[in-house]
Amino acid sequence: TKWCYSFRQGEAEGGAALGDVLGSKGAGLAEMARLGLPVPPGFTISSDACRYFHAHSGQMPPGLTEAVDAALAKLAADAGHAFGDPKWPLLVAVRPSGRVSTPGLMGTALNIGLNDQTVTALASTCGDEVFAYDCYRRLVELFCCVALDHEHYEFEEALDKHKEAKGYVRDAELSAADWREVLGIYFEIGKGRFPQDPREQLWAAIRAAFLSWHSPRAQAYRALHDIAEDIGAAVVVQAMVFGNIGGESGAGVAFSRNPATGARELFGEFLPNAQGDDVTSGLRTPWPIRESAIGGKPAAGSLEASLPKAFTELDRCAGCVERHYRDMQNMEFTVEAGRLWMLQTKSGRRTTTAALKIAIDMANEGLIDREAALNRIEPASLDQLLHPTIDPSDRPLVLASGLPASPGAACGEIVFSNRDAESSAALGRKAILVRIETSPDDIAGMHAAEGVLTARGGMTSHAAVVARGMGKPCVTAATGLRIDYEDQSFTVGGRRFVKGDVITVDGSSGKVMAGAVRMLRPALTGEFATLMDWADRVRRLRVRANAETPSDARAALKFGAEGIGLARTEHMFFEGERIVAVREMILADNAAGRRAALAKLLPMQREDFKELFEIMAGLPVTIRLLDPPLHEFLPKTDAELASVAKALGADAAKLNKRAQELAESNPMLGFRGVRLAVAFPEIVDMQARAIFEAAIEAAIETGRATHVEIMVPLVFAKAELDLVKARVEATAKAVELETGIASRYRIGAMIELPRAALLAGEIARSAEFLSFGTNDLTQTTLGISRDDAGAFLRSYVAKGVLPTDPFVTLDVAGVGELIALGCERARQARPDITLGVCGEHGGDPDSIAFFDRIGVDYVSCSPFRAPIARLAAAQTAL
Ligand code: ADP
Ligand code: MG
Ligand code: MG
Repeated sequence: TKWCYSFRQGEAEGGAALGDVLGSKGAGLAEMARLGLPVPPGFTISSDACRYFHAHSGQMPPGLTEAVDAALAKLAADAGHAFGDPKWPLLVAVRPSGRVSTPGLMGTALNIGLNDQTVTALASTCGDEVFAYDCYRRLVELFCCVALDHEHYEFEEALDKHKEAKGYVRDAELSAADWREVLGIYFEIGKGRFPQDPREQLWAAIRAAFLSWHSPRAQAYRALHDIAEDIGAAVVVQAMVFGNIGGESGAGVAFSRNPATGARELFGEFLPNAQGDDVTSGLRTPWPIRESAIGGKPAAGSLEASLPKAFTELDRCAGCVERHYRDMQNMEFTVEAGRLWMLQTKSGRRTTTAALKIAIDMANEGLIDREAALNRIEPASLDQLLHPTIDPSDRPLVLASGLPASPGAACGEIVFSNRDAESSAALGRKAILVRIETSPDDIAGMHAAEGVLTARGGMTSHAAVVARGMGKPCVTAATGLRIDYEDQSFTVGGRRFVKGDVITVDGSSGKVMAGAVRMLRPALTGEFATLMDWADRVRRLRVRANAETPSDARAALKFGAEGIGLARTEHMFFEGERIVAVREMILADNAAGRRAALAKLLPMQREDFKELFEIMAGLPVTIRLLDPPLHEFLPKTDAELASVAKALGADAAKLNKRAQELAESNPMLGFRGVRLAVAFPEIVDMQARAIFEAAIEAAIETGRATHVEIMVPLVFAKAELDLVKARVEATAKAVELETGIASRYRIGAMIELPRAALLAGEIARSAEFLSFGTNDLTQTTLGISRDDAGAFLRSYVAKGVLPTDPFVTLDVAGVGELIALGCERARQARPDITLGVCGEHGGDPDSIAFFDRIGVDYVSCSPFRAPIARLAAAQTAL
């Protein structure tokens, strides 16, 4: 076995292809070395050694000692002096290197090789005693922490005490004598266990790195991120370079492009006279790398201005690694006496905005192709771009943190009730609805408000789910928020806010802030538009939106939906005065009574549909006939009953009896969907007439033919569909006779029951399209009511019974099988049938991949998810 892989500027053994063996740090160093970049020489101990170590109860593999000795000898030749040399000691860094960076892995130990004797040798060769002791105290602290289970705070406290006693503020004020004194205390903290022998130091650090692979934190992290347990950590042993050797030196981090905006500019920070993680520790304020990045604020300096040669070299190296990896790189570097050394490179984390800009720019620069650019963006992350965001340059007062339940930021006056939210909206003022938690009664208030804040509830609470559906920013479970409805106020962190005070909620971060925070509007232009355009060119799957209100329909168009795949007509039934007419219709005891009530609804429905058709201007609009259980429309209070009785001119007691007859114990599987149409065909007549008349009017007004699809919900038999179809056809004829205009439309069925999926071939003989309603189909296939699943579904996922929440990502094995089978049988019966999917799954990237695979024609999702679906559809087509 090869245990050690050497590298030095200009050449290296192994590289990116050996990622598992060298870990990402070791592989990155090898690549940079081979590119000829300035990398201090060193070698990487293979992760195989770590694996062997754990498989043999903590024994180092045979041959490793010899291999390390040989690598050290090579390193001595490259560096010009040897590890352990008492006169001019070579110091090394011992750096654990996992396949991905893993919290819980051992930290890096620097300056290994120093002891009481070599520290004086280092002081005299460098002519800098303070520097030598600074290195030594860092080694003792790091070694005790990585190899002897001490914690950094023990050392920090000791140092602070010493500084206080001496009246020092900065570490730089300590003399060599001070450091010697501090070191004495450090040795005591380490209980005299710090080894003086350099080799002992080295091997203890290597052993600690191996051991840390199985630390509980590292294991938990790997479990969470699906990282294989058995890879093991590689360990880089590398010659030290010193950023703490005076003013021409320092340590820094850099990004080859701006990780916040994606701008093509070297970006990062540099801390003069520093070593290791000083730059990120917040000890002192680092300099920006570039002069221009200082902006308006005065800064002490910049790498560009103070060390221009090192800056130019860094710029060159950054460009070089970025071109090599064809991705934005995050680098660590050190400048020693004006000379740049590269210590690490990896793909940099970035905001979604930056990810988008970088992907598009790199494709335009020819660094990657368009397909790669499309694949670089996580579809779900687009969500962040579709809502207003907090302007990062504003620094607001954060009042509380909660769960980021629904993305986007909103500000407005505090209101505590639906009524106040609605009256604010009516006056054109922006409101934030603040509730302890929300219930279905709050929907109107949530609609009227700009954003929602609740004191309780999780990511799947009512507020969270409804807000996400509406695309409204929402923060739930805000810690420390105490709401007093009586007093119309809340307190948080000792401050009191009353109705009318202005706050800002950021549903992307979960923060609640005082006042109106500056915001950035979502830009659906520029790179976003380009990415969407590229996605649209490659995808096969069409994307429609679920929308029934004019504002949803407009949003659907804005987000690139190619039609409406589901317009729920009952939403129109609950509004304002309409509900009384709906109740009249339900409670009437004969068809004539129902017709009279339906006649009142007809003009309202017609107006609704007409507006939808006009907005969609020729794109398909799929209207689902009345679906919800009658039960939901029944009057619940005496007052509601009385108002229906008055409208009907009927006896309240008699009505009440009828309402009780219609009450259901399991409405979800009860009198709903096509069953309503079969029992009360008058409803179909009214809805069909409203649709056709609206379509004709809209076509006349817009000059474009309307594309009408009528969808029948919850069928399980062709015969049901045929009954409805006959009524729709008759109505179409009637309207044609009256207007002289023939209606063009398609009729189809929604597949939401296992029996419907099994009989899809049969149903397809009467249906021109089928749309799989995956929410209900999941409920009916698994026999799980979504509203009641909260109590047990999490343990099902935690215990591995189900891989994920089947209401979020389609249960491919079960529900997916039914859909695939339904599609196949439907296509056999009617080859040109259109097959769609509506429901939450239509906007879920994983589910979309499956729908594409089985040849579904379109998915329909909430308007805000349309861009996500478009990108996901493109990625699955690549
Ligand atoms: P991490 O995994 O935490 O990033 P690193 O191994 O990158 O750990 O080490 C952390 C820091 O230690 C580096 O950013 C660098 O500043 C410093 N460092 C690592 N190796 C060396 C070295 N050979 N010479 C000088 N400093 C080093
Ligand atoms: Mg670090
Ligand atoms: Mg690092």
